[in-house]
Amino acid sequence: MTRAPSRKPKPRATKLATKRTRGRGQRARRSVGKRPPRRGRTRKQVLVTGGAGFIGSHLCDRLIANGYAVVALDNLTTGSRKNLEHLRREPSFTLIEHDVREAYDLPVQQIFNLACPASPVHYQTDPVATWKTSIFGAVHALELARRRGARVFQASTSEVYGDPTVHPQPESYWGNVNPIGIRACYDEGKRAAETLFFDYARRYRTDIRVARIFNTYGPRMLPHDGRVVSNFIVQALKGEPITIYGDGSQTRSFCYVDDLVEGFLRLMADNAPHGPVNLGNPGEFTVAELAEKVLAMTGSRSHRVFKPLPADDPTRRRPEISVAQEKLGWKPTVALPQGLERTIAYFRQAIASS
Ligand code: NAD
Ligand code: UDP
Repeated sequence: MTRAPSRKPKPRATKLATKRTRGRGQRARRSVGKRPPRRGRTRKQVLVTGGAGFIGSHLCDRLIANGYAVVALDNLTTGSRKNLEHLRREPSFTLIEHDVREAYDLPVQQIFNLACPASPVHYQTDPVATWKTSIFGAVHALELARRRGARVFQASTSEVYGDPTVHPQPESYWGNVNPIGIRACYDEGKRAAETLFFDYARRYRTDIRVARIFNTYGPRMLPHDGRVVSNFIVQALKGEPITIYGDGSQTRSFCYVDDLVEGFLRLMADNAPHGPVNLGNPGEFTVAELAEKVLAMTGSRSHRVFKPLPADDPTRRRPEISVAQEKLGWKPTVALPQGLERTIAYFRQAIASS
């Protein structure tokens, strides 16, 4: 276990250097602070588990910009130090290498629990690890929230709806998940994590927020992440075949990462009690349409190849977002072409410099 100092948070941020520390029973890499000059202001301490990942790193950026002191906790399996490199000299930022399957303690007032592989390719590689990350990770975030009196946010998912029989999907829909299929480690792991969150709220009055995130894309996705947006863009830019699974008629709703992070912040800042809240872009596209857009926008001459549809692949997805609109005043502002343009620019540069 990586144990950070449990004293009260200091009124200032820390400047970072990196050293290795040995946690209880496991090796951990930890960034430690040198104290910068006083500025006479107390920053709220926020923990982001999975902070080195795609969404987590964007969240860290926004929190830092908003004046919080941020600790990112990550085991760097699907995340990367590179995603946080630009924060290396930021005095209010700390990265701690730690696995959330193990308990931890930190003096924080808010917790965003994002640690979990999100791409089907990654979460199915070690399904037991995925399940444990979801469940034990939720328990450890909730226990920390209970101990510290912190508000805690869970990154849940549209996967709780499985292959939906209701369309679009409102929060009141209970879902249609195969509990023993190859996606279940993730889907059921996230469902059980939601159960834990609401049981902690009922049993211990833990202050929880739960967002159900729909397919999100943007810069800092891994090039070989396996998800459809990154796959198609990287394939198109490299002139490789575009891999369409099934006949490409399945639909997804794609949300640009900046919009999603704005939704996180609004949900976390809202003091009213909440059930789970869908966060996603209601624009709905078939996978074939996405391939067409990516090919047109990259000017690629890649051809399409059709591969078998993975088991239990949901046929359609679209969030019903009236709860987020009414309660948080949130709706996405970045349309798919705009978001794709930014993401393509990111991957173009990433490929050129690799
Ligand atoms: P990601 O894989 O880029 O980020 C996950 C991060 O968690 C990585 O940095 C990884 O190293 C870290 N992690 C994984 N297992 C860990 C463990 N045991 N201990 C500590 N750290 C661990 O994925 P993302 O797209 O940024 O997703 C972030 C969160 O949002 C996840 O919880 C995911 O389930 C959820 N979500 C994402 C999407 C999406 O479309 N991107 C959709 C629904 C839900
Ligand atoms: N998909 C595809 N080709 C790829 C990757 C994914 O056709 O190279 C499909 C996948 O089968 C699914 C959709 O695109 O129907 C979205 O997949 P993704 O992995 O992005 O997320 P999911 O919403 O399935 O978790």
